[in-house]
Amino acid sequence: MEEWFLNVIDQFLETFIFHGPKKKNMPLAVTHILLSVIIVDLYRDYITKHKRFFSLHTVFLAGFFGILPDIDIVFNMLGRIFDFTVPVVLGHGGITHTPFFAGLFLIPGYILWKKKRHKQAVYFFVGCFAILFHIMLDYFIGGGQYEGIMWLFPFTVQSWKLHLITYMNMPNIPEALDALILLAWLWHEEVKHKITDFI
Ligand SMILES: [Zn+2]
Repeated sequence: MEEWFLNVIDQFLETFIFHGPKKKNMPLAVTHILLSVIIVDLYRDYITKHKRFFSLHTVFLAGFFGILPDIDIVFNMLGRIFDFTVPVVLGHGGITHTPFFAGLFLIPGYILWKKKRHKQAVYFFVGCFAILFHIMLDYFIGGGQYEGIMWLFPFTVQSWKLHLITYMNMPNIPEALDALILLAWLWHEEVKHKITDFI
């Protein structure tokens, strides 16, 4: 088999299987996607007065943007496979894990909103929220860069972190957390559907 192909497989296993779940700064991919989707959907169900601006696309995009910051893991992987050095700002926990990056999505959002394309604008507002939420999770639970989050990038590259999970010494917590979140969510959907059956 082609050597580069074997290399890709090797890097994939290395990144996601062997190191992924055991590393303390794991990506928590499922948690990020699940929580973003759930929060945006709850917001849509119970809080917003502009429900028509939120579609199923919006909820899907919440999941997409919720995991988007970890695209830097893919950059790193490509760097290792094709043997080039990824600039530090694009490394894991770099620029995609900053409020600055999240804020960029407000620009197209604002422009679209001004043009009265509210639904499309909300895609980007939700995107900004989901990215910020990702960063918060990484900051509190542990994820992204070991040094933490560069909250004030580009003014300073100083990083902050809490990484609560490192104090618990229970490497399986993320998986258990995902299972609990998913169960709670399914229960909510079940209850809500039953309720809506009667109204
Ligand atoms: Zn992350």
